[in-house]
Amino acid sequence: MAETIYANYPPQLSPEQQEFLVAFTKDWAIQNGLAVRPNPALLPEGADANHVLATTAPVTLFPSPFPKACFEEAQALQTLYNQLYATITSNQEWLGKIIEDLTDVDEFVANLWQTHLAVQKEGYVQNLSLGLFRSDYMADVTPTHDPALKQVEFNTISASFGGLSDRVRSLHTELLTSSPGGSINYPSHPLLESQTPPANNAVETLSNGLAVAHEAYGQPKSSAALPLCILFVVQEGERNVFDQLALFKRLTTFHKIPVFRIYSNKIFDQTSIPSSNPSRPLVYYPPHSPSSAFEVTTVYLRAYYSPDEYKSPRDWEARTHLERSAAIKCPTVLNQLSGCKKVQQILAQPTGPDHLSSLLKDVDAARISRLRETFAPQYDLSASGQGRDLALNPETAMKHVLKPQREGGGNNIYKSEIPDFLKSLPESDWKSWVLMEIINPAPNAENVALRVDGEVLRGNVISELGIYGTILWDNTGKIHYNDQGGWLLRTKGKEVNEGGVAAGFSSLDSVLLF
Ligand code: ADP
Ligand code: MG
Ligand code: MG
Repeated sequence: MAETIYANYPPQLSPEQQEFLVAFTKDWAIQNGLAVRPNPALLPEGADANHVLATTAPVTLFPSPFPKACFEEAQALQTLYNQLYATITSNQEWLGKIIEDLTDVDEFVANLWQTHLAVQKEGYVQNLSLGLFRSDYMADVTPTHDPALKQVEFNTISASFGGLSDRVRSLHTELLTSSPGGSINYPSHPLLESQTPPANNAVETLSNGLAVAHEAYGQPKSSAALPLCILFVVQEGERNVFDQLALFKRLTTFHKIPVFRIYSNKIFDQTSIPSSNPSRPLVYYPPHSPSSAFEVTTVYLRAYYSPDEYKSPRDWEARTHLERSAAIKCPTVLNQLSGCKKVQQILAQPTGPDHLSSLLKDVDAARISRLRETFAPQYDLSASGQGRDLALNPETAMKHVLKPQREGGGNNIYKSEIPDFLKSLPESDWKSWVLMEIINPAPNAENVALRVDGEVLRGNVISELGIYGTILWDNTGKIHYNDQGGWLLRTKGKEVNEGGVAAGFSSLDSVLLF
């Protein structure tokens, strides 16, 4: 079934048909906010001196087929995944042991851990944590068995594109439905005539999570009883701003919550914690409104996930400043650390202790085994383990990817490059990497992508599904709110190893379920 669907999809385009679809997509994208800021490095010198330009986000011209059973299973498991990562974050003994084993080989992880320990020593004043998570998967399509859902990774910080994913669904849906069966817009194909992509409520789900945290914060703690707000901490020069603004708009217009965006390098200029107030409220001073001040209920980080964002000790002080404040953090430093690839490897290693059952004590065994089914084998590189042999042997290395403790794409080592890469590192550093079996998506899937520079590429592709979830819990592990909703499909050329959209590797896409 799977092979036949992929074999004839998408239908071939005449030059005129392709021109029509590209023109439609370009115009639709800007009209509807399916956009990113351009990469200054790709513009002629001085071309956008005032930073007014926006451009179409990288996008596929067709939705991609995706196995319905895998899509539904990913949604069905999301709240359990939320619970798992909230539980891990609350279990400092379990998480701390894993993290402390990385601190001598990974300075970034060590600095995050130190930040947590420093705030812990002083005493946290906020018991609640908010997670806006995205669990990423591929459908393993091997002719010998039914398509299987396999997790690529679980993101606990700055999980992006929830604000744009429904835009792509909407673009493809309009192409499919604005003429009978899409027959005027798309060349004919049974898949394009029978259905549209499923609803996508990522914006609503993620905004609800932020709104629930805002509500749970309770009364102002500042002596002046300031109005309350949510603060998005973002990177200066962020190009994916319309994604963030979709959540911003939902919060301000539907939830009626004041929201501000602040560059991470302006934390000390625009926020403070009154030293005389033991509750440590985080106070935000909007630079465009000098007489006003707000107390921040919830800090949503779309920054601080990558070591190159911490250019000086001052940046670490700013992160510590946020962490020690009374604002609910999305995420806390500990929750960020729970998303380390090392944690995912320990959960997914084929042998050893049954961590899932001991972490998820109140969950029945059948549900735990469904979660476990989504793991692809992962290994450490210790001298005693299987991972080292698999990574160093050129034949078995071909079936694997090597991952460091990093986020945001562009950090992994793939297949044939693994053995030499490892040999170039001192053996003492190997423990900061994990080895993961490559997931095998549909071998003959194709699509056509419109890239940010306007180039149109047709070819073999690999699609990665993300499912969004949100959870609010306290440091005893008690869950106050847990929900899932909304999805993301990113599609990349098959020859490309990496998958990030922001990192320039893949295109936003939507699904046709089969
Ligand atoms: P990051 O946190 O940097 O996004 P990922 O684990 O998602 O790290 O890896 C980046 C990309 O590498 C993924 O989007 C995917 O394209 C590819 N990748 C990672 N793990 C696998 C795997 N097990 N099988 C196939 N591709 C993978
Ligand atoms: Mg990630
Ligand atoms: Mg990823």
